[in-house]
Amino acid sequence: MTRRGWQLYAAVVVAAVVVYLAAPGGQAWETSFQIGVQVTLIAGLLAGLRRVPAGDRAPWLFFALGLTCTTLATLPLQVGADWLAADGPDLADLLFLAFYPAVATGLALMIRQSRRRTDWAALVDAFTVTAGIGLLAWSYAIAPVLRDESTALVTRLVTCAYPLADLVLLAMTILLARSNGREGRRAPLMVAVAIGGYLAGDCAWVVLRHVNEGWADFWWTARLINADYLLCLLVLTLAVAWPRVRGDGDGAGAVHHLSRRQLAVLTLAMLMSPTLLITQQLTGEIVDGLAIGIGSAIMFLLVMVRFTQLLKQAERQAALVRELSRRDELTGLHNRRSWNEEFPVFLARARTENIPVVVGMIDLDHFKAFNDTYGHPAGDRLLREAAQAWGEQLRAYDVLARYGGEEFVVLLTGSPATEAVTAIERLRDVTPQNQTFSAGLAEWDQQETPDELIARADVALYAAKAAGRNRVCLAEEPVRVS
Ligand code: GH3
Ligand code: MG
Ligand code: MG
Repeated sequence: MTRRGWQLYAAVVVAAVVVYLAAPGGQAWETSFQIGVQVTLIAGLLAGLRRVPAGDRAPWLFFALGLTCTTLATLPLQVGADWLAADGPDLADLLFLAFYPAVATGLALMIRQSRRRTDWAALVDAFTVTAGIGLLAWSYAIAPVLRDESTALVTRLVTCAYPLADLVLLAMTILLARSNGREGRRAPLMVAVAIGGYLAGDCAWVVLRHVNEGWADFWWTARLINADYLLCLLVLTLAVAWPRVRGDGDGAGAVHHLSRRQLAVLTLAMLMSPTLLITQQLTGEIVDGLAIGIGSAIMFLLVMVRFTQLLKQAERQAALVRELSRRDELTGLHNRRSWNEEFPVFLARARTENIPVVVGMIDLDHFKAFNDTYGHPAGDRLLREAAQAWGEQLRAYDVLARYGGEEFVVLLTGSPATEAVTAIERLRDVTPQNQTFSAGLAEWDQQETPDELIARADVALYAAKAAGRNRVCLAEEPVRVS
């Protein structure tokens, strides 16, 4: 179907739902109408499948299966078949319930398509929200049914299966809504909205039952909720028109991100248990004390897990920022900031341990001309390759840092100046692209400040430049005025 075709299709279904809402009551035609719209939706879903790559169709097939189950479940109501059990669970219940595993499987497959890695933060958030709403479901939709001994146990269990299945779908819907695939955000989001709206309809039933036991008298409320179901299923069907559900899927970037909206939802979820406790206390007696206690404990634990995740993330990021701020972006060497921080500390330690230290300043010769001739990117490449080649010649405990521009500083320890000169000469041999450098070395006298030592190496470097470049010069011994 073309884009216009889909628009027309959506308009027809919406118009049908509006007619359904506005027409006078009557069980028989209402159900037929519902079935008609649902069959149209199933047909749309199957037609849309052609737009989905063959390997990605499984979730949609499960959604179509779920839709077929609810449609078939509505059918016995329509034909008024007397083979339905008079009371207690019947075939319709079985079919209505079959909707849930089918849709849950579809959601699970779609979540897997959207992300390759497990997003633990989204998982914890989904559990937290589900625990909060689950507590309400327990208190209003599950516990009262289980306590009602006037009904057969199997009927009570089937009645409770609906809210429980709703909770499972809720958790999965939140997970799907949180999948952050780069390419195919829209289809999963539409599916999440559709299922979320469907669950809201289920919620509305529970609320109506509690607000007014005779909710069935309000035929229009029932119709309104049915219309919500149909429109949500339409959104689900339209989602197939945007079937690209494969995202970048690593979920790494946004893993522990906590937006304001997510924070608000989590806060609301966590406020469920105290609110329930206060409500029960004020309106009579606390009947769900145990459930509230267990629910609160679960939510506290989940919040602690989330808190720990965020804390670890913050620590990792702080370490990363620190590391990045100390590295030169181009060459990956220590940068000047790192050098300035660590050099004085190093000298202080070397003084106590009486370790010989030689510092060298290295400056590429005629680098400006190289840039002008071959271009700035080629200059960058030379800087990178030179840093790499020199680094490979140095010992693991020697330090090479980028001091600025095409100037490098090297720290050699444990060997006298003559050996240091040989070491730097070795670097000259491996300088890439036939380029040369000049270097000035200064042997530390165990007294000089870091700045004095660097200044002496710099003077030696200028001497090397002045003497014709492409050479290593050793600085004079420092002059001490006693
Ligand atoms: P000398 O032999 O006297 O050292 O001459 P030189 O041309 O190497 O020295 P000069 O200080 O005149 O020029 C340094 C050049 O290094 C100028 C600047 O554009 C270049 N440069 C500094 N940082 C970078 C960089 O990150 N990438 C590139 N491609 N060039 C850089
Ligand atoms: Mg320079
Ligand atoms: Mg230079």
